[in-house]
Amino acid sequence: MAGLSAEVAAVDVGGTSIKAALVGDGGALRSVQRPTPAQGGLPVVEAVIAAVAELGGQPQAIGLAVPGIVDEAAGTVRHAKNLRWEELPLAAMVGGHFGVPVGLGHDMRAAALAEYQLGAGQGAPRLVFVGIGTGISAAVVLDGQPLNGSAGEIGHGGAASGELCACGGLGCLETYASAAGIARSYTSLSGREISGAAEVAQGVQDGDLVAQLVWTAAVNGLARELAGVVRLLGETRIVIGGGLSLAGDTLLSPLRTAVAELLTVHPIPTILPSAFGDRAGIHGAALLARRSLRGSAPQTPC
Ligand SMILES: [Zn+2]
Repeated sequence: MAGLSAEVAAVDVGGTSIKAALVGDGGALRSVQRPTPAQGGLPVVEAVIAAVAELGGQPQAIGLAVPGIVDEAAGTVRHAKNLRWEELPLAAMVGGHFGVPVGLGHDMRAAALAEYQLGAGQGAPRLVFVGIGTGISAAVVLDGQPLNGSAGEIGHGGAASGELCACGGLGCLETYASAAGIARSYTSLSGREISGAAEVAQGVQDGDLVAQLVWTAAVNGLARELAGVVRLLGETRIVIGGGLSLAGDTLLSPLRTAVAELLTVHPIPTILPSAFGDRAGIHGAALLARRSLRGSAPQTPC
């Protein structure tokens, strides 16, 4: 019987990795992570199915949090550039395989809702969740309701020069302030291959001047974007998630200062790290799964 005690499978499909967890009443019972197939397309769908299968257990619903333009009601991914998905009926494909209801949602909106309901966004009338990982995007929750559609694509556009971005634009925030962009910038300036942005964050602490230069450019770019959000929304709580949020105060302290310096008559926003680190998407996916169960089992309360 579907109910509050049901186990669900939650999957966060990112550009770099696919994270999955079997979630019961008390939280995650089992987690798996596998790399996202770089070629995109059907192999990514197969990897999602394999991750859910690897979890085992008896999930009664599956929640899928995915990037891109998502039609949540239809269960379709309209467009996800990094995954090379176009008009993909993902909910039906995964649900058909396992024979359980599937809740499909946008990764940032799902993560933002998880922060609002369970994490660092609790009680915030205006919440902006910013996920910084392979890419950068945001979601806005106003009075408990996420803004749907194409809102939150702050990683792209707005510049006229710089590195060519996957979106076709030049100098997008994502090219130099995402975790992937920070690592790439560091390698191109220093000539040294590194494992990722965490190594640059460590370099900032250790006095590596190239790391500090790259980091400051990223922080300033993020601050300009967030200050613009505050100018529009007014009093706002900003929660930073995604892999880069694991840098903690190395990121948040200079970011708070830089945002405050860009604002004059505006309220200074509260900027907090995600309560779930880089796993906000997983928590959001679990909410999507539970919502799909409620859809198929009307007797179940929230
Ligand atoms: Zn772009």
